[in-house]
Amino acid sequence: MSNNIETQVIRNQLERSQFQEHSTPLYLTSSFVFEDAEDMRASFSEEKERNLYSRFSNPNTSEFVNKIVAMENAEAGYAFATGMAAIFSTFAALLNSGDHIISCRSVFGSTHSLFTKYLPKWNITTSYFKVDETNNLESLVKENTKVLYVETPTNPGVDVLDLEALGNFAKKHNLIFIVDNCFATPYLQTPITYGADLVVHSATKLIDGQGRVLGGIAVGRKDLIQEIYLFSRNTGPALSPFNAWVLSKSLETLPIRVEKHCENALKVAKFLEEHPKVNVVRYPFLKSHPQYKVAKKQMKLGGNIVAFEIKGGIEAGRNFLNNIQMCSLSANLGDTRTIVTHPASTTHSKLSEEDRLEVGITDGLVRCSVGLENVDDIIKDINHALQN
Ligand SMILES: *Cc1c(COP(=O)(O)O)cnc(C)c1O
Repeated sequence: MSNNIETQVIRNQLERSQFQEHSTPLYLTSSFVFEDAEDMRASFSEEKERNLYSRFSNPNTSEFVNKIVAMENAEAGYAFATGMAAIFSTFAALLNSGDHIISCRSVFGSTHSLFTKYLPKWNITTSYFKVDETNNLESLVKENTKVLYVETPTNPGVDVLDLEALGNFAKKHNLIFIVDNCFATPYLQTPITYGADLVVHSATKLIDGQGRVLGGIAVGRKDLIQEIYLFSRNTGPALSPFNAWVLSKSLETLPIRVEKHCENALKVAKFLEEHPKVNVVRYPFLKSHPQYKVAKKQMKLGGNIVAFEIKGGIEAGRNFLNNIQMCSLSANLGDTRTIVTHPASTTHSKLSEEDRLEVGITDGLVRCSVGLENVDDIIKDINHALQN
């Protein structure tokens, strides 16, 4: 089969059953049967690659995994119930007590909680760098450093980290390089090309893309995925067959959806850049973005998240949300529906102003997950909310 992504996401599907269906059916079965004692012995001894029990694997889950593995140029993968299950299980499977992680300060909120609250319970510590310090990481390396973990573009500041530079750094120090590729999707960016050993995703976002199901996945080096698989098969964070079926269907349209999301987002970003009530706009494919060149090198398009700072601080941000008419106020992102959030008064309100600024969240910062409505309607709604 062709390696082109648009073909892979559609044609890389399960073999047809006896019914010759065109679209992959849903295999809602918790377990699978064996021919005889010898078949059962061989299956459990892993001499045979086959489905045993849906906590380990299921046909729908395998189809979903195979597509993402192909898109990310990975060797293997395992799918999870949520993005956080993928991230936590990856750390739990690969790290030992006493290990050390280097990570960027700007990571998803719950990932940050893993680093600060939960991994320390097992004596696993993390050192952080800021988005503009990627060329200055040597001082963070310790004897026990095992993992380099990043997201790019970041949430909610939409900063871009240089994957090639980070990949070289990880290689030099023999670190396992893990990238959360959720904001870019494998259609826009493939971190393994730049030296990532593992890529994790929240499939809840652009991969589902329609705000329906939660899911997660880790793909990458076969030896590492095997460890993650064994951990997960015993501890049970597996993706459900139904969600896998939904997500695999979603992938069929991922390329055209993401293409349109990015086209709309660039138009929204350009509109905001000219707006008198907006101080700063962050979008990777705007020439004014501090890492524009890096974004152009490693991303096919700029993604669907636009961050912008409204003049007037917290109050102006709250007013903006109150005056939105069509777009949704919601904590999700990567949906067909455009979503706006104001991190300083909501998701990040518990942080001190100083800590917020560390991760690029100014008081007037709005994050917009640009959807697939007619872009003129999206711009009209945002413009109206800014006028009031
Ligand atoms: C949403 C998100 C996650 C967590 O995914 P869930 O599916 O909600 O568990 C992790 N990383 C990033 C960048 C996200 O946006």
